[in-house]
Amino acid sequence: MANVSLNRKRAKLKQVLGIRARLALLAVILVAPLMFERVRSLEEARVKQIAQATAEFTIVARHSADAQREVISSVETILKAEAFIRASAGGISRSCDVLRASLPTSLPWIRTLLIAGQDGRIQCSTNNMYVGLDLSDRPYFQQAQETGRFVLSDFLLARPAQTPTVMAAYPVAAMGSESGAVVLATVNLDWMSKVMGNLGGRPGISAILVDSAGIVLAAPADQRSEIGRPLDNVPLMSAISDMALRSDQDEGSLSFMAVDGSKRAVSFIRIAGTNARLITSIDEDKVSAAVNRDIRTAYLQLGFVVVFVLLGALIAAEKLVIKPIEMLADMAKRFGEGDLSARAARNRLPSEFVPLARAFNAMAAQLGQRERELVASNDRLTVMASIDMLSGLANRRGFQSRLDFEWMRAQQYGSDLSLMMIDVDHFKLYNDSYGHLEGDACLTRLGETLSGIAADTMGFAARYGGEEFCLLLPNTDLAKAVEIGEKVRAAVLQLSLPHITSNHMLVTVSIGVAATKPNESLRPGDLIEAADAALYTAKHRGRNTVAEHGIVRMTEGDAEMAMAG
Ligand code: GH3
Ligand code: MG
Ligand code: MG
Repeated sequence: MANVSLNRKRAKLKQVLGIRARLALLAVILVAPLMFERVRSLEEARVKQIAQATAEFTIVARHSADAQREVISSVETILKAEAFIRASAGGISRSCDVLRASLPTSLPWIRTLLIAGQDGRIQCSTNNMYVGLDLSDRPYFQQAQETGRFVLSDFLLARPAQTPTVMAAYPVAAMGSESGAVVLATVNLDWMSKVMGNLGGRPGISAILVDSAGIVLAAPADQRSEIGRPLDNVPLMSAISDMALRSDQDEGSLSFMAVDGSKRAVSFIRIAGTNARLITSIDEDKVSAAVNRDIRTAYLQLGFVVVFVLLGALIAAEKLVIKPIEMLADMAKRFGEGDLSARAARNRLPSEFVPLARAFNAMAAQLGQRERELVASNDRLTVMASIDMLSGLANRRGFQSRLDFEWMRAQQYGSDLSLMMIDVDHFKLYNDSYGHLEGDACLTRLGETLSGIAADTMGFAARYGGEEFCLLLPNTDLAKAVEIGEKVRAAVLQLSLPHITSNHMLVTVSIGVAATKPNESLRPGDLIEAADAALYTAKHRGRNTVAEHGIVRMTEGDAEMAMAG
C-alpha cells in the first residue's frame, strides 16, 4: 500500500515538474550560488559602509573638538597676555588702555575683554556697558580666584542683551602678582557653532557642544535651536548626558537600542582644559539609509537578473525542447491517424533532435512502403478471390459483383441487360467416359472459347459453378443475346470435342437467355432466375439448343421479362 501511494506521489510530482519547471529549477540552481555571493557581498558592503561613515564622522568630530580647543586656547593666550600686562603695568588705567587697544580682530570669537578687581567689580572693558558690573558671585570668577588657573564658564546669558555666552577668566595672580584681579573675556558662542559647522547636515548624525551642567553651548546650523537648552531636552542625547557629565574620562561612548528599535551610538570628547564636551550621536539606521537604498537597488537588479534568467530558461526550453517534442508528437499523431505523408521537418529542429526526426522519417517511409505493399497484395488477393483458376474466367463471386455493377449502370442509363446461362450437356457422362482430368481440360477449353466470344461482344464471361457458365451482355437486347447464344452454341460444337456417351458424339452446351431493362422493381437475381428457367427449357428441348425467356410479369403491374416462346 505504502509503495502504491509513493508511486502515486511520484507520478503527481512528475506531472507538476514538467520539462519547463525542471529547466526553470535548473536555472535557479545555477544562478543561486551567484545570487548568494552577491547578497553576501552586498551585506558586507552595508556593514563596511556604515563602519566607514561612523569612523569618518568620529575623525571629523575629533578635529572639531580640536578646533574648539584651538579657539579656547587662543582666548587663554589673550587673557594670559592681558593678565601679564595687568600684573606688570602697575596701574589699572594703564592696563585698561592697553586692554582697549588690544581686542584682537583676528580672533572674532572674543567679543569683549574685561578686567575685574579683587572685589569682582569690572574696572574696565572693551565694551563700556560692563564697567561697574559685579562678578563676585559668579562661579567662574570665584573659581579663577580660588584655583589661580584659566576657567571657562558654563553657558550664560550675558546681560544686558541676554546674548548666549561663555566667559573665560584668568587670574592676574597666576602671573606672580599679589593682585586678586581677574582678566575676563566673553566668548561668542556663534563662532563656536560655526567651528562645528562641518559636523552638521549629515543624516542620522548630530553633534553638540555642552557645558559642565549639560547646557548646549554650540551646535551646527541644523541644530542651532538647541543652544542654551539642557541636554535632557535633546532627543537621544539625554541617555549619555549623565555618563558624559560624570565621567572623568576625556572620551567615552555608548551603544544602545532606542525605543523605536534603531541602533544608536553616542560618544563624547572633552575639550581639553575645560569642562565642555563635544557630544555626538549616530543613528545607524539613518546613516545606513543611503547605503540601504543602494543595496535595495542592487537587490532589485539581482531580482531582475533572476527573472531574466528564468524567462530565458523558459523561452529556451519552449523553443529548444518543448516545441520540437510537440512537433514530433504531432507528426507521430498525424501518422497514427493515417496521414502517411507526415514527415518531421529536420531543418526546423535543434541538431540534437535531428537523429530522432531522421529515425522517425525512415520509420514513416518504411511503414508507408509496407502499407503500399499490403494494399497491392490485398488487391491481388481480391482479384484472385474472384477468378476461377480452371477456366481462367471470373468465378461466381466475380460474376455477382459484375452483375450488380452492370445492373446499376443499365438502370442509370435505361439500357438493356442480357444474361445467358450455359450448361454442358451430359457432363456427368463425359467424366464417366474420359475421367475427371479430361473433364477439367474440357472445361478449360470451353472457358477459352467463352472468353473469346465475351471479348468480341463486349460481354463478361464467368464460371457460374460446376459445368455451368454464364455470359453477361450489357447494352444487349433479347434478340441480339439469342443471336450471340447461337454463336456460343456453334463455337462449342465447332471445338469438336468427342463425347461418345452423348447423342451428338461431341461436347455440346444448352443455353438459356434472358434480357431486361433493369428498374427499381427488379433485382439482379430475377435476371438469373429467368436465364435459369430458359436453360431448363433448352434442356427439355433436347439439349444443344438456345432458349429464351419470354415476357413475364415478375411482380404485378411491374416490369416485364422476355419469355421463351
Ligand atoms: P445435363 O445434360 O442434364 O446437364 O446432365 P449433366 O450430367 O451435365 O448434369 P449433372 O448435374 O447430372 O452432372 C454434372 C456433372 O458435372 C457432375 C460432376 O461430376 C461434373 N462436374 C462438375 N464440376 C466439375 C469439374 O470441375 N470437373 C469435372 N471434371 N467435372 C465436374
Ligand atoms: Mg449442370
Ligand atoms: Mg450439364
